[in-house]
Order: sequence, then C-alpha cells, then structure tokens
Amino acid sequence: KQTVLEVEDLHTYFEIKKWGFLHEGYVRAVDGVDLEIEEGESVSLVGESGCGKSSLAKTILGIHSPREGKIKFRGKILDFDDEEIMKSYQGKTGFVQQDPYSALPPFMSIQRILEEPMIVNGIKDRSERISRIERVMQELKLTPTGDYLGKFPHMLSGGQQQRVVLARSLVLNPDLLLADEPVSMLDASVRVEILELIEKIQKERDLAVIYITHDLSTVRYFSSRILVMYGGMIVEKSPVVKLLKNPAHPYTMALLEAISEPDAANAERLKEVPPGEPPSLMDPPAGCRFHPRCRYLIDEVCRTEIPPEFEISQERSVSCWLYREGRQPEDVEL
Ligand code: SF4
Ligand code: MG
Repeated sequence: KQTVLEVEDLHTYFEIKKWGFLHEGYVRAVDGVDLEIEEGESVSLVGESGCGKSSLAKTILGIHSPREGKIKFRGKILDFDDEEIMKSYQGKTGFVQQDPYSALPPFMSIQRILEEPMIVNGIKDRSERISRIERVMQELKLTPTGDYLGKFPHMLSGGQQQRVVLARSLVLNPDLLLADEPVSMLDASVRVEILELIEKIQKERDLAVIYITHDLSTVRYFSSRILVMYGGMIVEKSPVVKLLKNPAHPYTMALLEAISEPDAANAERLKEVPPGEPPSLMDPPAGCRFHPRCRYLIDEVCRTEIPPEFEISQERSVSCWLYREGRQPEDVEL
C-alpha cells in the first residue's frame, strides 16, 4: 500500500498578543509531530482536550499554516502558498467537525450544500453532480433522498445533520477523511450509528481516516492504529490491540485506567485521570511534558530533556525515557 499522508516535524504556533498588539508569546499547539498514514488505513488520534489534536487536524487540512515542518500528500510536499494546489488538495481531503449545525450554512438547502463543493471544483455537468449526490446519500442512509434535498439544516436532527456533513465531505471522492470528535455533540442514542457509518464508508471506499477523539473507548469502532497526543506532541504510536493490552506510555496507561473503571462515577473519573492539569501550551514544562503528572518519573532526565521516539517493536514507538536502551513494556516495572 502507498503512503497517502506524511507529516514531518510539524509545528503550529499561534501568537498571543496583549491588548491586541503587544507580543506576549506563542501557543505551541503542535510542537514537533511526525506521522504517516497509508491508503485505506484508519488511525485514531487520542488525547485530552487542549492537547493540540484539532490544531494538528486543521494544519493537515491546510486551514492553519505550519510554522515549521512538511506535509506530503501522495509523495508531494504541499506548498501552502499555492492556491491552486491547496484547492485541489482540499478536494482530496474531507473534514467532519464536532458541531454539524455550525458546519452547515443555514440558508442553503441540503441539495445546494451537497452540490457546492462540486461547483467550486469545476464539476459542470449537473447530472453528474446529481448522481454523485444520490450515491453518497444512499451510502449515508439519507433516504429516500427526496425527503432531504429540499430541506434546510435546522429541519434535520443532529444525527441527520452530521450525515449531511459526511456526505458533503465525500462528494469529491477524497483519499483522506479527518473526523474531529464527530459524535461528541450528538445524542448518545445516535453516536454508535454514526461511528458505524464512518467505519462502513472507510471499508467500502478504502478510505484513509484519521479519527480524533478524547474518548479512548470509541476507537475500537474502526481504527487499526492509535496515536496518543499529549502537550502538542505524539507520545505513543501503536496498533490498537497492542496498546489496549499493553500500554507503554504512562499517559496512555492513565487514559486506559479511566475507561476501565466500571463504577458509576466513571464519567467524573475520566476528567480526573491522570490527576493534574494538562500542560500549558504557552509555557510547557521542560523535559517530558508529562513529567509533572507522571507516576513513574525516573530521574532528572525526565525534567530536563524531551524524550525522543523510541521504537519498541516494528509497529510501535513511544516517547518516554523508560524505554531507552531498547527496553520493552514487559521490562518496565510499573
Ligand atoms: Fe514519565 Fe519520564 Fe516517561 Fe515522561 S519520560 S512519561 S516523566 S517516565
Ligand atoms: Mg478539539
């Protein structure tokens, strides 16, 4: 299989200004991310809110420009200043966000919403547009299509709106879909249905998907690999099964403990585990960004040096000093 997306040493910073003009510093939302996604692969990006997941997604999509680093799509480096390249790139990538209602223009009919990306991308043949709309609406179970086409977003339920957003992201037959917390604002009753739909589309279209979530318990729906993000960096990369069985990074362990806690206070615990606050991205801790919350903090090196990515097996890597000198999760006494 070919690589669809390669991200190399990506940094995305946002400038903070006092009174709107005095430079105060930067929010280092994405701070040195490397990743690769293959054709048809589905990967989950997991981490607490405020760890940089959405900023990473928006940089990958070309919505934010990186301060440093490269993004390659099908082997070609993206030039963020080239409008033509970025327009065609945006047609090859779909994006689904948390809130479907704010993602849809309120005064456009569903038909118009679904036609729009095709008009923008120069698909002039109206019957071609209509047949593509028919196809995606079938895929997303927005049927009979006649019940939806003339309606406006506010006339639909949240789950239906999110299916329209998904349909819109698929009409140009993208190679890559980024779904950023696609179900977290929907009623619990429709969440599974939407996740299963994304899973079905991913398989049927052999689509590469990056599923972004703070909720590790939902990744099993479709991802084969997990990337764990903390403080603007990716701290663990692993196949799902191996990570769930044997988490390597202390932060991943804490995330897993939060979901395996069966008591009624689970929801509350999720917010508290691991104890402590996520790091400030404006003034991140020195060394390992997890060190102020880490139970395993080994020695001074954790406080002073950012751990590099240690490969612990062919498909797994972890950025934690516990794994220096070729140590494995089994060797680490925790
Ligand atoms: Fe904990 Fe040190 Fe590993 Fe960071 S590098 S997660 S502080 S053991
Ligand atoms: Mg977010």
